[in-house]
Amino acid sequence: MPREQSIHAAGRGESRGQQCARPSAAKRGYDKHWKRLRLAHLSAHPLCVDCLAQGISTAASDVDHIRKFKKNDGGIDDALRLDPANLQSLCHSHHSMKTNRNDRPDRAASKVKGCTADGTPIDEAHPWST
Ligand SMILES: [Zn+2]
Repeated sequence: MPREQSIHAAGRGESRGQQCARPSAAKRGYDKHWKRLRLAHLSAHPLCVDCLAQGISTAASDVDHIRKFKKNDGGIDDALRLDPANLQSLCHSHHSMKTNRNDRPDRAASKVKGCTADGTPIDEAHPWST
């Protein structure tokens, strides 16, 4: 038990440190307007579009901006941020893959875990996928 407590304590401390250095969710563009739009989008489009493209029905947990709403100067393009046509529903694995590929090239090599019902890896970079 003490070992588990130390692991959780370390995780919380790291998380707090990251939150302090980062602007609030609202300042990053995830305000009440976004939350409302996100819920409406997930209600209307409950399945991951990338999984559907692979013939798999997976419940979406994330709403992705197809085109980035954050400008290169750090500003926010509100028209893109709240444009329903700029949104797509994704499962967390596919959203992480897209985010890593587009926004975090330093993490692009990270692996996405999981597979389809027939055992095909979800990670498009997996050696079995080539
Ligand atoms: Zn998916």
